[in-house]
Amino acid sequence: MKRKISAVYPGSFDPPTNGHLDIITRASHLFPKIIVSVTENVNKKHIFSLQERIDLLQKTTKNLKSVEVVSFSGLLANYLEKINSFVLIRGLRALSDFEYEFQMALMNRKLNKKIETIFLMTDQSYTFLSSSMVKEIAMLGGNTSDFVPKHVEKELKKRVVSLSKGGYAK
Ligand code: ADP
Repeated sequence: MKRKISAVYPGSFDPPTNGHLDIITRASHLFPKIIVSVTENVNKKHIFSLQERIDLLQKTTKNLKSVEVVSFSGLLANYLEKINSFVLIRGLRALSDFEYEFQMALMNRKLNKKIETIFLMTDQSYTFLSSSMVKEIAMLGGNTSDFVPKHVEKELKKRVVSLSKGGYAK
């Protein structure tokens, strides 16, 4: 049964992986609209700029008509209030995710009691997959084709070459 409300899936998505796509697809079976919200976290060093991550996610989710990709900055709780959407989707891989996600969910609820976080478990083939792992593999010249969509793999390869020449995300 689909709830009649939209759900927000926030993250850095640097880069989007098959694990993210798995969670978005699962969420799209539960909610009529999924707002994938890409954060510009100034404390994190990204290899793809905000706009690049949005573009990559739009391509990644192009077959899912109910998905919208947007950016947000600042406190997530304030952003949810602004767009009047209070269901958060987060992905869970393993126990290691749990403590951080549990803290975040409780803190968000403390900041705004309307916020409810829903955790979706990833397909077991993606339990080991993270954006940082994918970046590390790409930087070391490994094959990332099992972990990210084709267009992400292509951009990742190009970015790794430019990073090795001293470039960085804008
Ligand atoms: P953040 O910086 O907020 O952790 P990420 O882009 O790393 O952003 O992740 C966004 C969300 O997607 C988080 O809930 C994270 O746990 C989840 N996620 C990341 N990789 C996977 C995966 N392989 N399977 C399931 N969920 C995942």
